[in-house]
Amino acid sequence: MELYSGHINKLIDELAALPGIGNKSAQRLAFYIIGMSDARVKQLAGSILRAKENVHCCKICQNLTDTEICPICSDAKRDKTTIMVVENPRDLAAYEKTGRYEGLYHVLHGAISPMLGIGPDDIRLKELMARLSSEDIREVILATNSSLEGETTAMYISKLIKPTGIRVTRIASGVPVGGDLEYIDEVTLLRALEGRTEL
Ligand code: ZN
Repeated sequence: MELYSGHINKLIDELAALPGIGNKSAQRLAFYIIGMSDARVKQLAGSILRAKENVHCCKICQNLTDTEICPICSDAKRDKTTIMVVENPRDLAAYEKTGRYEGLYHVLHGAISPMLGIGPDDIRLKELMARLSSEDIREVILATNSSLEGETTAMYISKLIKPTGIRVTRIASGVPVGGDLEYIDEVTLLRALEGRTEL
């Protein structure tokens, strides 16, 4: 016999499929949602739908945004000659939070992983190379994670960019190996940025 009704089980399954949410948390959230007022549940469901409908990738840097060009790319005060390459929007947010990086970004939405079958065409690399040939870029800072995939991606990109003559640097390995950039404190991030080395 099923412990809960089909609808509750379905909700628990959907929540448990989200990253970082185990079965216990999914149950807790499901019961919490059932206990919420109709108005709040509608608001939550509406926020999810509206975010999904309205958020897309910035035409230039591929970061998630509500507008065609994101606020960073359209900010006249940013240094338009430097691009920092990150794996995902959360890494970009981590560097933005330091408030000390003034250049532009490029979000790859992933990293090259032969083991997982993720190749260069599966991340937003073509878009980066297109920017390098159309914008006046003097330095590309490779800030992918220091995991195997992040290092592989950095090496691959640096080999692609080298022939263009554009300066390519890699953030210092003060960032713990395998560490997700978003969990690293701002001081460590700044040290990694300032200690970047030529590739
Ligand atoms: Zn942008």
